[in-house]
Amino acid sequence: MRLILLGPPGAGKGTQASRIVQRYEVPHISTGDIFRKNIKEGTELGKKAKEYMDKGLLVPDEIVVAIVEDRLKEADCKNGFLLDGFPRTVNQAEALDKVLENMNISLDKVINIKVDKNVLVDRVVGRRICRDCGATYHVKFNPPAEEGKCDVCGGELYQRDDDKEETVTKRIEVYLQETTPLIDYYSNKRLLADIEGEQDIDKVFEDIVKALGSEK
Ligand code: ADP
Ligand code: AMP
Repeated sequence: MRLILLGPPGAGKGTQASRIVQRYEVPHISTGDIFRKNIKEGTELGKKAKEYMDKGLLVPDEIVVAIVEDRLKEADCKNGFLLDGFPRTVNQAEALDKVLENMNISLDKVINIKVDKNVLVDRVVGRRICRDCGATYHVKFNPPAEEGKCDVCGGELYQRDDDKEETVTKRIEVYLQETTPLIDYYSNKRLLADIEGEQDIDKVFEDIVKALGSEK
C-alpha cells in the first residue's frame, strides 16, 4: 500500500500514522520527524530546517524532495510506504509524481483528515511527545496514565518548540495557503479519501481502514 496522509497541523496525522503502519505493515515516513531527528543530532540539514520550522514556515521544496526521494529508494519501501506531512505544496506533489514514475510505481490512496480550523490550535498546543520513542499524547484529549511520562516506554514527554501558540497560527495559515490546493490535486486524480477527523481517535482509524480496505 502506497499512501499519503494529508491534513492541517493537529489533524491527527501522526496519531493515525502509528496505527496505519502497524495494520498495513509499511514504513512511516514523516518529513517533520526526519527534520526533528536531524535537529537533535545537530546536522547541517537540521540547522537549515530549524530556521524555517521555528518560524512556522515550510522548509524549501528542493531540500524536502531530495530527502523523500532518497528515503523512498530504501529497501523497506519496496512493498509500500506511508508519507506523513509530505507533499505540502503542489510543487512537491509534482516532484513526487516524477520520482514515483521513474520508480515505476504509483500511489494507492491519499487520506485527507478533515478538522475544523478552530479545533486545531487546542490540539497542537496540548500536544506532548515522548523524547525517546516519539509517541504522541494530548494533555486533555489523549493524556498518558502518568503525567509527563510515556505509557509505551516511560520516556519524558515534551512540547515541540513549534507547538507554541504563535507558531501554530502561522503553520495553519501556511497550510491553508500552500497545502490545501493538494486536495483538488489528488481529488482530480481520483485518489482522495476524505476522513472526518473530529471523532474519537479509534473511530477515525476505523474510517481510514474502511477507506483503504482490509488488504495489506
Ligand atoms: P498531526 O500529526 O496531524 O499534526 P497529531 O497526530 O500529532 O497531529 O495530533 C495532534 C494532537 O491532537 C495530539 O496531541 C493528539 O494526541 C491529538 N489528537 C489526535 N487525534 C485526535 C482526535 N481524534 N481527537 C482528539 N485529539 C486528537
Ligand atoms: P510536522 O511534523 O509535519 O508538523 O512538520 C513540522 C515542520 O517541519 C513544518 O512546520 C515545516 O517547517 C517542516 N516540514 C515538514 N514537512 C515538510 C514539507 N513536506 N515541506 C516543507 N516543510 C516541511
